[in-house]
Order: sequence, then structure tokens, then C-alpha cells
Amino acid sequence: MPVQPVRLFGDPVLRTSAAEVTTFDAELRRLVADLTDTMHDEGGAGLAAPQLGVGLRVFTYDCDGFTGHLVNPTWEAVGDEEQFGPEGCLSIPGLAWDCRRHLHVVAHGFDMYGEPVTIEGSEILARCIQHEVDHLDGVLFVDRLDAEAREAALAVLRDAEWAGEQAYLPAGEPLRPPVVKVSPH
Ligand SMILES: [Zn+2]
Repeated sequence: MPVQPVRLFGDPVLRTSAAEVTTFDAELRRLVADLTDTMHDEGGAGLAAPQLGVGLRVFTYDCDGFTGHLVNPTWEAVGDEEQFGPEGCLSIPGLAWDCRRHLHVVAHGFDMYGEPVTIEGSEILARCIQHEVDHLDGVLFVDRLDAEAREAALAVLRDAEWAGEQAYLPAGEPLRPPVVKVSPH
């Protein structure tokens, strides 16, 4: 399956709510394969369909030894504990800021064949689930930062030369700076 270009901050598709999947067909399985391959190629901990320009509620994850995908996901916090630590995003390459998230979550959804799936996650996997479901609602992690960090992040993003650039990069001509290795999603 081909690796697809990841849409970057400034692309409207990242600010658009994705639609529920209603047909569990070969096209959906191709999307899951593309997401998985692209996530692995980029060294990401997760990837959501809108990041490939597809407005469907699907994401893949690979963190803490857990790999998989979830279709039409929902999640809820387990307990009140929070975590505060570095978070990155493949659509905001090379940058990371400390972001507050629930420490433990449980997510429900479906696999690509339409079978119900439940995932329980803590720490990085919990952070990933929250980050990816945000993507499906058009929310980016910079929106979740504390006010001061958010202001600083937006100032950096305004000056980032790739922000708002056309995300379909010519093959072999990477425009992006190196991807940060701190739990990018
Ligand atoms: Zn992301």
C-alpha cells in the first residue's frame, strides 16, 4: 500500500469534522492500510484519516507496543488522573509542546470489518487516543495547550515556512523539517 503525503497545519481538511463510516468495504480497508503504512513511514505514534485528506472517522495507532486501528471511535476518561507532557503531531512537523491529557482512557469503536472493538490505554496510548479523536473533530493539539503555551505555539506556527503550504508535496522534494521523535501523532 502506498505511503501518502501527510496534510500540514493550515490545510482546511484538518479543521473539518470527519464523517462517520457507514460502509465497511474494501475502500475502508485500503484507507486503514494507507494510514498504517504512512504512520510507520513517518515514525508516528498515530495517524487520523483527515491527515491524509480523507474526511472519515478512522485512525491508526502504534504506541507502547500496541498497534491497531479504530473506526467511528468514542472515548471516556477512566478516573480523574491527568498527564502533562510533550506532544507532537505529524501535521505540525518538528514541533512539540507540553499538553495536558487524561492519563487513562477507554475507547470504543469498530474494526475495518465492522466488529466492535474496545481499547484501554494509559500514558502514551491514552494521549494518542485523545489526540486522534480530536483530529476527527477538526481539533489540533495546539488548541489544547495552556493559554501561554498556546500563544507561543501559534506564534511559531505563524512563522513556520511550511504552515498553510499546499500539503501535496512533489515526490522526492520534502519541504518539511525533520520530524520530532517525541510521540508524534
Ligand atoms: Zn496529530
